[in-house]
Amino acid sequence: MPQYEKILLKNMEQPGYTGSLADYEKSGGYQAFRKVLKDMQPDQVIEEVKKSSLRGRGGAGFPTGVKWGFIPKDHPGPKYLCCNADESEPGTFKDRQLMERDPHQMLEGMAITCFAIGAETAYVYIRGEFRLGAKILNKAVEEANAAGYLGKNVLGTDRTINIYIHAGAGAYICGEETALLESLEGKRGQPRFKPPFPATHGLYQKPTVVNNVETMANIPHIINRGGEWFAGIGSPPKSCGTRIFCLSGHVKRPGNYEVPMGITFREFIYDIGGGMSSDKPIKAFIPGGASAPFLTPEHLDVKMDFESVAMAGSMLGSGGVTVMEEGTSMVWAALRLMEFFYHESCGKCTPCREGSSWLTQILQRIWTKQGRQGDLDLLTELCKNIAGRTICAFGEAEVGPIQSTLHHFRHEYEDLIREADAMRPKSKEIPVFNH
Ligand code: SF4
Repeated sequence: MPQYEKILLKNMEQPGYTGSLADYEKSGGYQAFRKVLKDMQPDQVIEEVKKSSLRGRGGAGFPTGVKWGFIPKDHPGPKYLCCNADESEPGTFKDRQLMERDPHQMLEGMAITCFAIGAETAYVYIRGEFRLGAKILNKAVEEANAAGYLGKNVLGTDRTINIYIHAGAGAYICGEETALLESLEGKRGQPRFKPPFPATHGLYQKPTVVNNVETMANIPHIINRGGEWFAGIGSPPKSCGTRIFCLSGHVKRPGNYEVPMGITFREFIYDIGGGMSSDKPIKAFIPGGASAPFLTPEHLDVKMDFESVAMAGSMLGSGGVTVMEEGTSMVWAALRLMEFFYHESCGKCTPCREGSSWLTQILQRIWTKQGRQGDLDLLTELCKNIAGRTICAFGEAEVGPIQSTLHHFRHEYEDLIREADAMRPKSKEIPVFNH
């Protein structure tokens, strides 16, 4: 297996590493936070992160330093940081590992971010099902408070930084930043119309940064080793650093792997993941979580960076790579994903609420061999009427698997409809009665 320098998973791979504050400090933890408090101004921290070209690791890939720069400096009231730990995208399970195995790494990143944007209060919005992660994070916050890294007068300065862990109730849509904020405020977790954006009207309508767990975990390393160092890793200029990709499906070695951005899917699936778990060849793969359109074996040499995957017609998204072997029905795969999206649609806007139900029903009838001629045109039309016409990006996400399987594997849909036609009783001629 090729070996790459690990940044985020390095500590937890050391024998005996427990993720405690003592272990984290022994590995150099909280030195970056000490450095920013002692030697840097908030603007310098933001500039360093901009220099690193770090992009959000949650899915959208927005440049982190630029996002921080949108927070108004002269705002008189409170500002907030929310760490998005609502990892719910099927096929994605990296943030969970970061939280459970090395919680102080992301907490240090959050403390530095609070310093940079001038926030005194930060929340970790953690997926409700991650009970172990929430327990570990709560303990880590207690340790950091007791050691003076968090709380009032952090490390003897006049700064206050409090971090609170808030567990969600298990709704996928709360991973969308504005739905997360609504939920955190105690309301129903539904996305807001944008603009205004959270940078000016976020939590309680105050300036707010929402960043993902992996994004936060990168911050101490960027401060310790410099933005330029980070920008030199991976696939510069736009896809820098390492990324933790989650590998699942029909592969020999599923798991989380930290690699520099820009290696190819072939290297990732075969050299790192050990290739297919059976002797069947690969048929398709999802490159970036369930919302990302499917790619096929012809895309195996595409680089795992934001631009290359977009050029190939999909997205790097949340970093979840799910591999499917020859023999997997792509109609079934699209149906399974659509059932998930139908269940998780928050219902706020009509195209998604109604459309997800119709798409699911049509896919169900095609899969159960009751499809009709015209169903594929209907699916295509429905997808077109959902994408780009919804309040949040969920609309595009839910149609991606259908559009891409229709594009690459249309014949599988047609075969099932043909079979349905052949099985359907022929309508009898209407008898004519002569009186
Ligand atoms: Fe809710 Fe779907 Fe509309 Fe997003 S697109 S706001 S999930 S109904």
